Amino acid sequence: NSVFAHVVQAPEDPILGVTVAYNKDPSPVKLNLGVGAYRTEEGKPLVLNVVRKAEQQLVADRSRVKEYIPIAGLADFNKLSAKLMFGDDSPAILENRITTVQCLSGTGSLRVGGEFLAKHHHQPTIYIPTPTWGNHPKIFTLAGLSVKTYRYYDPTTRGLNFHGLMEDLGSAPSGSVVLLHACAHNPTGVDPTLQQWEQIRKLIRSKGLLPFFDSAYQGFASGSLDADAKPVRMFVADGGELLAAQSYAKNLGLYGERVGALSIICGSSDVARRVESQLKLVIRPMYSSPPIHGASIVATILKDRDLFHEWTIELKGMADRIISMRHQLFDALRKRGTPGDWSHIIKQIGMFTFTGLNKEQVEFMNKEYHIYMTSDGRISMAGLSTKTVPHLADAIHAAVT
Ligand code: PMP
Repeated sequence: NSVFAHVVQAPEDPILGVTVAYNKDPSPVKLNLGVGAYRTEEGKPLVLNVVRKAEQQLVADRSRVKEYIPIAGLADFNKLSAKLMFGDDSPAILENRITTVQCLSGTGSLRVGGEFLAKHHHQPTIYIPTPTWGNHPKIFTLAGLSVKTYRYYDPTTRGLNFHGLMEDLGSAPSGSVVLLHACAHNPTGVDPTLQQWEQIRKLIRSKGLLPFFDSAYQGFASGSLDADAKPVRMFVADGGELLAAQSYAKNLGLYGERVGALSIICGSSDVARRVESQLKLVIRPMYSSPPIHGASIVATILKDRDLFHEWTIELKGMADRIISMRHQLFDALRKRGTPGDWSHIIKQIGMFTFTGLNKEQVEFMNKEYHIYMTSDGRISMAGLSTKTVPHLADAIHAAVT
């Protein structure tokens, strides 16, 4: 007997549950394309060389201790993270109109930002795209915000529903928060063009909406950290306010270290200092202060010219391998004469391809080919290799014919 006897079994997380099922499958040909984590050509997780180097430096430094770090995290890490996202010469940084706090990766940054908005923003409603990363609605609802959606993806063109997006944001109540994927939209792989971003920016500013960028893939989309940050920087350049959540999970491969940052750009330095004081009140009762190790790795790399340069090369290597997987899969389907237009595989951006395969086709590929992916037909291109492309192409071909 238990006081918890009434507790019902919860379903597996829709994304992480894919790996749970994959791990149980004894098939030698099984393929996990569910989780958004980078794999090498050999299918192995990758620890970047620069990360190994930074860790060696940290271990060798005997003066380093394990004291608590401040509630807002490591000061160096915060400054350097803001520069990485907004640019060295960002007016918001030069004018001190920004506060950056170290958080538990992208998820923790979104949650802390959400809780701050629920407490202090006059319009505690957030608009998220449909579809979006499955954790977004849960994070913001639990943070205390009212979650609404705006149209984003058009299944018929497998591209952006720009008209629907503009219409929905255009009718959002003034002051509403708008969640925007900074680049490499998850799960669709569809991003606005820079011209479209400019129109979105104008609309958001003219309607008095508040942009909240989720940047989980900086550098992973194009291979360039600066190019992927362009849309965010357009919103900083106009002098307006915004929030941005950064994750180092993908671009530095620091998944399990849980390193990220929340920045809030404010109208004045005075406001920014007060906002920071309130962010600390959000963080303190939640987890007191963030962990030291991952942020120290990031700070070590960001402040050392050589390590930083080496990182950009390794990052581009990851992005290029993903892009090459897109081409190999596209070519393999063409070679098989698979019916349908598959050009979206090479057009979409970032870690995922939103295949357009339906639930039944996904189930068929799982049962007959031991291929694992989320039920919306999203596949992680980072989990694919030259060796496994033919197996996936065979499965897709069989699923649609
Ligand atoms: N936002 C998006 C769009 C993501 O895809 C992810 C990772 N799947 C995250 C945020 C956060 O990931 P993490 O908490 O591991 O940094």
